[in-house]
Amino acid sequence: MPEKTLTITGGHVVDGTGAPAREADVLIRNGTIAEVGPSLRRPEGSEVVEAEGLVVAPGFIDCHTHYDRAITWEGIGRHCALQGITTVVGGNCGGGDADMAAHLDAAEAAGPGVSYTCLVGLSSVRTRVKGPVDAAPTSDELATMMRIVEEALDAGAVGVSWGPYGAAQFQGTEEVRALVAPAGRRGRVFATHRRNERGGAVAATREALAIVAGTDARLIISHLKVIGPNGFPLLDEMLETIDAARREGLPAWCDAYPYTGAATGLSTLLPEWAKEGGRTHAVLGDDTCRTRLLEEIQQGIADRCSAEDILCFARHMDGVFGLSLAQVAESLSVSPAEAVVALVLADPDARGGGAVYRNTMREDQVQRILSLPYCCVGADSGVTPEEGRPLRGGHPRSFGAFARALRWSREGRTVGLATVVRQCSGLPAEALGIHDRGTLVAGKVADVVVFDPKPISDRATYEEPVQYPAGIRDVLLAGEWMVRDGSYVGAGRGKVLRDW
Ligand SMILES: [Zn+2]
Repeated sequence: MPEKTLTITGGHVVDGTGAPAREADVLIRNGTIAEVGPSLRRPEGSEVVEAEGLVVAPGFIDCHTHYDRAITWEGIGRHCALQGITTVVGGNCGGGDADMAAHLDAAEAAGPGVSYTCLVGLSSVRTRVKGPVDAAPTSDELATMMRIVEEALDAGAVGVSWGPYGAAQFQGTEEVRALVAPAGRRGRVFATHRRNERGGAVAATREALAIVAGTDARLIISHLKVIGPNGFPLLDEMLETIDAARREGLPAWCDAYPYTGAATGLSTLLPEWAKEGGRTHAVLGDDTCRTRLLEEIQQGIADRCSAEDILCFARHMDGVFGLSLAQVAESLSVSPAEAVVALVLADPDARGGGAVYRNTMREDQVQRILSLPYCCVGADSGVTPEEGRPLRGGHPRSFGAFARALRWSREGRTVGLATVVRQCSGLPAEALGIHDRGTLVAGKVADVVVFDPKPISDRATYEEPVQYPAGIRDVLLAGEWMVRDGSYVGAGRGKVLRDW
């Protein structure tokens, strides 16, 4: 094979290890970082990219996405590359495909424009075996679930994920612990969206730590946060709990996104008992428990934010897309809690559509979390591409989380440049066990982003989320051009990472 080299010259190299920026050239040979150092001798015929005044960093690794379905979408490479992202992890919050071999094969066949790996989601696993019933599995059922997890890990899943959705919300600690054990035996990841991020945030954090304690699983607490008036006072105790476990040697990381708003299905506002047994529609239509149901939904709203702060992105009901829950309620002439019931009832999936919950977090607390030495930037991003339709709606984090984290750093709200770059690259690589990516060090895959530290900024907003950041000039994926002078050129293909 003829040697193909590219030299990025004169930039401020921030290599993702946490080391401070230094003036250096980066020499890439056949898709791999060959050398990083001052005034490197350029091989004859080497392509040269001037980066004076710019930051040269490792391509970003988004350890928390919901791109499981989007990974085979032809636009996924552009979507990620325009944000500087070169590797993504799907299957978070319990959602990853139980048939991991088929899923990763399909991703490979699509040749995605971003490198990809996936977690096997315990909600999907339990759905296959037992479903959303509030009962512990029999030993046979547990053995079957364990076998599915083992097969998924053998097929290349980077780890196991859990979240309080679907069938998984009825899994007790012991059941989850048993299903995480196979990941522990392989030294892989357990990524968990804790059972409670509000008044029960400390207890739920203890549960997450207990699930991996005594195993060799590596814990990533997903979107670490405290939500709402009952959660806000718990931040200190929650962080102390994690610090204490880390001091004892427990391998724990977290991810977080730099926004005070969350996003999830509207049905998250329903009490657990209303979703038991997959009978949500029947329960919601049952008049005998209606008063209690509406009270608990109203409480669920108040525990998070307000009906004005909840934006509904339901596509299954006409005329509500993008409206606040308060506006939907007004248009239906009902209370906000009744509007939740109406939206969930109208949805065949009983999810009520996606929703953004603005102002559920405090900005100073989000910034404190994003300043933790073990916190990765994870966008918690999802996109729902539909054929022939542009992306619309949703949370701005899917388009701006990484650039916003860099902007917060520049504005002095979180950590310095070297640390935030590490949070976007080297740290998630370390947490996930991705050994050949995440830093600009000789021998690593040449995933590189070149950005201007001054204007780097997110542009996505809650009103107009589908806007890509400003300031990202070049992106290389394994040495191939993805973004050049700010435009997507998409010459490269991502790799499905499945050898651990
Ligand atoms: Zn989640």
